[in-house]
Amino acid sequence: MAPPPPGTPPFDTVLVASRGEIARRVIRTLRRLGIRSIAVYSDADAAEPHVREADAAVRIGPAPARASYLDADAIVRSARESGAQAVHPGYGFLSENAMFARACADAGIVFIGPGVEAIDVMGDKIRARDHVAGSGVPLVPGFSARDLDDEDIALRAADVGYPLIVKPSAGGGGKGMEVVREPGGLRAALASARRVAAAAFGDDTLLLERYIAAPRHIEVQVMADAHGNVIHLGERECTLQRRHQKVIEEAPSPIVDAALRERLGAAACAAAASVGYRGAGTVEFLVSGERPEEFFFIEMNTRLQVEHPVTELVTGLDLVELQVRIAAGEPLPIAQDEVALTGWAVEARVYAESPERGFLPAAGDVLAWRPSDAVRTDAAIETGSRIGTEYDPMIAKAIAHAPDRAEALRRLHAALGDTVLLGVDTNIAYLRTVLSDPRVRAGELDTGLLDRLHPTPAAPPSTGTAAAARDALETTRDRGDGWRARDGWRLGGIRARGVAVFDSDGGTVAVAGDAVADADAVVVAASDDEVWVHADGAAVRLRPVSRRAATLRALADDAGGAHAGLSAPLPGTVVAVHVGDGDRVSAGERMLTIEAMKMEHTLTAPRAGIARIRVAVGATVARDEDVAAVDDDEVEEARHAN
Ligand code: ADP
Repeated sequence: MAPPPPGTPPFDTVLVASRGEIARRVIRTLRRLGIRSIAVYSDADAAEPHVREADAAVRIGPAPARASYLDADAIVRSARESGAQAVHPGYGFLSENAMFARACADAGIVFIGPGVEAIDVMGDKIRARDHVAGSGVPLVPGFSARDLDDEDIALRAADVGYPLIVKPSAGGGGKGMEVVREPGGLRAALASARRVAAAAFGDDTLLLERYIAAPRHIEVQVMADAHGNVIHLGERECTLQRRHQKVIEEAPSPIVDAALRERLGAAACAAAASVGYRGAGTVEFLVSGERPEEFFFIEMNTRLQVEHPVTELVTGLDLVELQVRIAAGEPLPIAQDEVALTGWAVEARVYAESPERGFLPAAGDVLAWRPSDAVRTDAAIETGSRIGTEYDPMIAKAIAHAPDRAEALRRLHAALGDTVLLGVDTNIAYLRTVLSDPRVRAGELDTGLLDRLHPTPAAPPSTGTAAAARDALETTRDRGDGWRARDGWRLGGIRARGVAVFDSDGGTVAVAGDAVADADAVVVAASDDEVWVHADGAAVRLRPVSRRAATLRALADDAGGAHAGLSAPLPGTVVAVHVGDGDRVSAGERMLTIEAMKMEHTLTAPRAGIARIRVAVGATVARDEDVAAVDDDEVEEARHAN
């Protein structure tokens, strides 16, 4: 980290109105500038690192964001009471809320961001389009559906042509956007987009645009001061998205040359100047892959972006420092011709989610967290953090910088392999798959690429990995913490010397007594039936198979019969059991129903045979817990013979 800059700090005290990695990142810069930082937190976050790392922290409310991080009154009050002269809103939450910016101003507190009018204009896609069009910024052909009925919309849509994209005008985060391939699909898409828009943004106004086939998302970082200077810091390519949400971002873009950079930069600065912009902003464009010289404005984000670190690494500038200085009235310290881009930077967003299970959000306790020291990592978490589902599932960003693109991708891929995160499912393995995809390596990107690139199924764990899990379990058990000795783990009082069977997402692995644990493995026994191991660049969750279950499986194999187990696809509650234990069932027959995440999942018999039900209605089940099985007659006989 750079030494504190000379001179008086621009403010004494700044309140950071956010949480997670961005709150920590802003606090870091404030500290370097000699500014006292005030964190805010909800009840869910009292023990999170941003609270401890700030010079002081204020509780603002209970866990739901509505009652805490989105409560403008509580935040302004906290700022006033803690003596903050300014508020940094981070991203998300109130960062693009004009009412909040106004409330700060009314309370005599500087909002570190643009003026209220710029937020207001750019916060609405239709207003933003109308506004920048006047400055000659090219737009995607499209129209506002405000005050039009569905018939009028259909007529206008026919003029623009299909395919079309329907977007909530007040939208963000890709929410509510619907692609319409042909006129027949329009009505349903409008209804669905309005529903999502009303619920998510409290405004169901829609914008329809021509859908650009296989586009690339290229955005320009702008920085403007209060003295009329506007510069751009080059582009970022954020084409690698899943369902319109960015996953991997880089700077510069592989398809932007110096001439195109100048045109994009000029358009971005014109868009910013058109609203008298101040501070850091991002102007987003879609660029046709086949004709990169053709670009279209889609929106402007009036805040710091998640992906700002790639720009910091190639420009050597601290964007938060620039934001703070500009908010204090200082002029931009550099001119456009002093902005130099060095090397290549690539960022990957680490999400708490399960790619193999349709990217469902994951929650739990972080049992181990060790970022790679070969790249910059901005993380929300540390060992011991609890990841809930209240807030955004993005828990860290890893950002590599290298002389060229190939090397930056290679370093990021390697660093993600060294990043240890145990206890919660993440997309780290998926990110590595993406980074090694030949199209990604070649820079042949389009916004649909990730939706076509499916997670590779988990590999079966190596014996060394399983041996590491076995040793961890045995040690924990010997210490007597957590791991309770149970039948089968001791034979006649002598430990069954390290013979163990584990289930994992990649399959079952058996370890013999003499198997040696992988020396580099990082292992944590979460409980007596779950061990997490990081080995060979990946995290795996191993579940010990009890001796009894292992014997039954072996019996089933010997009998030549079949034992088909059913496990809970998600953590949840058993709400119905449809057949009795020992009943004869036919293939496809409903066996039991689990409610999870407000949805019901019914498990059906994978084959005909004898039902084995291991849970009762009302039981809470863990993910992958064995809840039922269907045995065939031979297994049934073997069971009795045993
Ligand atoms: P949000 O504000 O919800 O993030 P954006 O307007 O920024 O919405 O669009 C997000 C993403 O959706 C873009 O990066 C792009 O992948 C896709 N998208 C948006 N508009 C279009 C369009 N007209 N044609 C094709 N894809 C689009």
